[in-house]
Amino acid sequence: MYLSKYNLIFNAADQNWRVILNPLSGAMDFFDIRAIEVMNLSADRDVSGEYSDFIRYCRKRKYVYEHASDEQTVINEYEENSKLLYINEPLRVEIYVTFLCNLRCTYCFQNHNFHRNRGVIKPEVIDSMFRAISILNEMRNSKQAPIIKLFGGEPLLKGRSHREAIKKILDLCKKNDYRVKLITNGVQLAYYADLLSKYDLEFIQVTLDGPQKVHDQRRIFANGRGSFEFIAEGIDVALNRGLPVAIRVNVDEDNIEFIPELARLIIQKGWLDKRIAVGISPVDEFGPESEWCIEQVGVNTLKKLLEMKTQHEQTSFMSICCRLAKYFEHIVEKGTLPFPKIKYCSATMGNQISLDLMGNMFACC
Ligand code: SF4
Repeated sequence: MYLSKYNLIFNAADQNWRVILNPLSGAMDFFDIRAIEVMNLSADRDVSGEYSDFIRYCRKRKYVYEHASDEQTVINEYEENSKLLYINEPLRVEIYVTFLCNLRCTYCFQNHNFHRNRGVIKPEVIDSMFRAISILNEMRNSKQAPIIKLFGGEPLLKGRSHREAIKKILDLCKKNDYRVKLITNGVQLAYYADLLSKYDLEFIQVTLDGPQKVHDQRRIFANGRGSFEFIAEGIDVALNRGLPVAIRVNVDEDNIEFIPELARLIIQKGWLDKRIAVGISPVDEFGPESEWCIEQVGVNTLKKLLEMKTQHEQTSFMSICCRLAKYFEHIVEKGTLPFPKIKYCSATMGNQISLDLMGNMFACC
C-alpha cells in the first residue's frame, strides 16, 4: 500500500485522538491514535485481514492507495480540471520601480545591500515594458485587464525622477485600462497623495506593525529612527483624498500581542470610518535567497492569531492574510475542505511576471 503524501495529521484536544486532513481528496476525519498507527503500518505490511474495513475506508478517503501512481493519476485529473479555473485569470505584472528603499526593516525579505542601489526606472524602459505587457496579454488571450503592481525597494521615494517614473507608469496604466495596485511602506505617502488621487488605484498597501512603540522597533530608517509618525500622517492624508488604503500588519512573536492595541488605535484615528482595510500577515522566511517559496506560518502563530480574534472583539475588522488561515476559515464556515489548489501561486499558473528597472523579466520576485 502507499500512504498519501498529502495526509496532514494534527493533535486533537483529547490526546488519544488525531485530526486527519487530506487536501487532495478533501477528506477530513477524527481517528484515534491506534487507527493512525494501523494506517501508517499498512504502507509496510499487509494489515487487510484484521483491519480490512478500516483500510477500505482509508482507501475510499484516499489516505492510502494501492500504488503511488494511483495518487499521481488523481493529481493529473485535478490539474486538467483546474486549468479551467485559472485560464481566464488576468495577467499579473510586478514592476520594480527601483531597488532603493528608505527603510531598513528588521525582517525584510530583501537584502539591505539591494536598498542602497541608486537608480529609478527610465522612461524608455517603461515604454518597452508596456509594449511587452501588451504582447504578453494578447498571447494569453484573457478577457480580463492586466493587473500592474508597483513594487520595489520602495516605489514611492522623494525626488523628481521617482515621481516622474510613477506618473508615467500610472498614465500608461490609465491609457491602457490596466488595473493598478501599489505596495509601499508609506513613508512618502503624504508627498504622493495628490498625484495618486488623479488615478483609479485598486489599493495602496501600507505597512504598520503595531502601535508606535512597537512599529518603531521594526520598521526603521538607516539611522535607526522609527517611521510610524510619517506613515500615520501619510495614511491620514491619503484617506482624506479618498484613496483606497489597506494596512498590512506583519506579525511574528515579537508584535503579535500588540495587535489589539493597534486595532484600538486604528478605530480612534477614525480610519475605519474612511473604509480602510486591515490584513494581518505572518512574517515568512522566504526571499530571493530562500530555497523554498512556501508559506511557513507556524501552527502556534496561527493559533495565537485565531485566539486573539475571538478574545478581542475590536480586532474583528482585521483579516488574517495567509493561506493556512483561509484554509481553516473555509472549513469552519463551509464544513468542507477547499478545492485542491494544484498551482501554488500566480507564478506557477503562468500568469505572473516580474519586471525590474533594467527591463529584466522574472517569473517571480
Ligand atoms: S520597506 Fe519593504 S523593502 Fe524596504 S526595508 Fe522594509 S520590508 Fe524591506
